[in-house]
Amino acid sequence: MTNEDVTTATVAVIPMCDICKRNGDTTVPAQYDAALNFGNGTTWAYACLTHFTLYGGRLGVGLGQRLIVGNPILVGFDEAMAEGEYDLVELATLWIELIDSGFDFQDDIEVPATEAQRAEAKVGLQAQIDRERTKVDES
Ligand SMILES: [Zn+2]
Repeated sequence: MTNEDVTTATVAVIPMCDICKRNGDTTVPAQYDAALNFGNGTTWAYACLTHFTLYGGRLGVGLGQRLIVGNPILVGFDEAMAEGEYDLVELATLWIELIDSGFDFQDDIEVPATEAQRAEAKVGLQAQIDRERTKVDES
């Protein structure tokens, strides 16, 4: 699930707003991950809409992204792909086998996936494999 949209970022779990947390409220979900201006240069933080606006948050590459909750397995797969020098087809095939075997992906995802999400992840991974194979065929 590669996200071509540079103004959004897909996460498995919505984090809390860093600035609200610093102010003592740990219950406010963040809506953005952005480079915010606190007065001495910019610092990346998770921010709610209020703090995103207050500290000059902007959307785009190197600026900030709006957070979207995605399928935890697919988010975990994207993170694994981003971290390593993996072959997409090999890794996706392995992950589909792991889903089928009932593997819980505890090391790779932050929240347990539901049965529906596991089924959806299989479809998503297969779509990535098919897309990758098409790309290879064209080159
Ligand atoms: Zn906040």
